[in-house]
Amino acid sequence: MTRPTHVHALIVAAGKGVRAGGDIPKQYQPVAGVPLLRHAVAHLRAYSGIGAVSVVIDPACRDLYDAAVGDLGLPAPIAGGATRQESVRLGLEALAGDAPSLVMIHDAARAFVPVSLLAALLAAFDDADNDGACPALPVIDSLRRGSGHYAASVDRADLWRVQTPQAFRYPAILAAHRSAEPGATDDVAIALAAGLRVAITPGDERAFKVTEPRDFAKAAAMTSYSSRAASGFDVHRFGPGDHVWLCGLKIPHSHGLIGHSDADAGLHALTDALLGTIAAGDIGDHFPPSDPQWKGAASDRFLAHAATLVRARGGIIDHVDLTLICERPKIGPHREAMRARVAAILGIDVARVSIKATTTEELGFTGRREGIAAQAMASVRLPEAADPA
Ligand code: MG
Repeated sequence: MTRPTHVHALIVAAGKGVRAGGDIPKQYQPVAGVPLLRHAVAHLRAYSGIGAVSVVIDPACRDLYDAAVGDLGLPAPIAGGATRQESVRLGLEALAGDAPSLVMIHDAARAFVPVSLLAALLAAFDDADNDGACPALPVIDSLRRGSGHYAASVDRADLWRVQTPQAFRYPAILAAHRSAEPGATDDVAIALAAGLRVAITPGDERAFKVTEPRDFAKAAAMTSYSSRAASGFDVHRFGPGDHVWLCGLKIPHSHGLIGHSDADAGLHALTDALLGTIAAGDIGDHFPPSDPQWKGAASDRFLAHAATLVRARGGIIDHVDLTLICERPKIGPHREAMRARVAAILGIDVARVSIKATTTEELGFTGRREGIAAQAMASVRLPEAADPA
């Protein structure tokens, strides 16, 4: 049996998280300004071995879910049950239509799982005899029993601190859950009760569980994102017409802009800047001018696609900045509408969108009013351990 190729990660986030304090369940509380659940999704998506990520939620928290990750293009959330075990089983049942070869069952509270842990977990399935695998750390501290006073020592050899995600061949864990008694501590316990063979793989301190209020500060200190900034540049030539498309807006003008698509130089420059942050080539690679389906296309779909690619890598779009270079049309009167349009396409707050304009003092092709140039910068945060593109 070869390594499973269709891997679906299931984040179980239906709990109340009462020990963590706060007014809302901990998975929706912010860490470094980003909901814990969003960190969890980003870190799983940073590993290319995982094909899809679904989340099991308490349907009463649907608004919180939508606010946290609703823009990430995930499969519809799955309604959980009264206990974690029930939520996992419902999640597994809901994947039946997708029928992954492997499922990774994860807790949102262990949001900062590194790619190395996930890769080691998947590698355990190179052994065809393994039905499951679970990351764990050895116990370093001495262990001792007692109640008020120390009694017997406990041999820490062969003892493990178990983490998540816990991975299983999908048909095996689905069958195990269907026949499980209630009250299991985790999915490994359910697998073992069903007679499955579960390998121990290397855990990582970064995959710690956010449990107590103080853990949020620890998590914020550990957020392992790196910033990427990239630029984009585009030019389109004026031609006959009575309007131009700029930043997704139709603006009346004495000329049109010539191009294979709608020739929106502003959105094209922004698209290239975003693609640059994940080293994903340029707009021509994704939407070749030779392809007739992009003839006259509205460029908002190009920019939206770039944003989707960034988010698929676990990226968070922090800011975009665009400079439009032309003598005419005047940009100022349209600036705020352009910012709002770009923010809507990217699914980010308008405060994170900057649009500027300049002329070239009647010098060069923009000065001669032969065309419009646009240059853009985008900054994003990517999970530190993201795979190379
Ligand atoms: Mg262009």
